[in-house]
Amino acid sequence: MQDENSVLPPFAKQDLIIDAEPEDERVWVPQAPNIWFRPLLLNTTAGAWFNLLRVRRSGVLTRHRHPAPVYGYVIKGHWHYLEHDFVASPGKFLFEPPGETHTLVVDSDDEMITLFNVNGAMIYVDENGTTIGYEDVFTKIQMCMKHYHEVGLGSDYVEQFIR
Ligand code: FE
Repeated sequence: MQDENSVLPPFAKQDLIIDAEPEDERVWVPQAPNIWFRPLLLNTTAGAWFNLLRVRRSGVLTRHRHPAPVYGYVIKGHWHYLEHDFVASPGKFLFEPPGETHTLVVDSDDEMITLFNVNGAMIYVDENGTTIGYEDVFTKIQMCMKHYHEVGLGSDYVEQFIR
């Protein structure tokens, strides 16, 4: 609820200002072997999310297709997509247009951390392009709830990231 001195218009959401890289390791949510994500903003009305993706040692993020744009900024480490020639390195900005389909690979022992803004969904596909699964802002929220419950932060810990 906003107080009467607020300059916010009615129904405006609360702003969100947090340390992107958390002190508490438990805030990182396991995604796959050697891969974690740290939710920053889980936007349930835009159907989008911002997270840090972290890979330690060698990790592979299963091939997936993006039906909506993705924006990225590499903070730490190096990685590449099996389907492309470039190597993502610290300071690189990425725009991935709709239709982009790729498999993210880290093959050094360096830790990599990249900020991603994913819109819509990630559609996981097999080698023939057949859909095998998906993620959207709601499955991300459910993953967070389950993990934060298991590590003792409480499933409602995720609520601070939701707008
Ligand atoms: Fe992707």
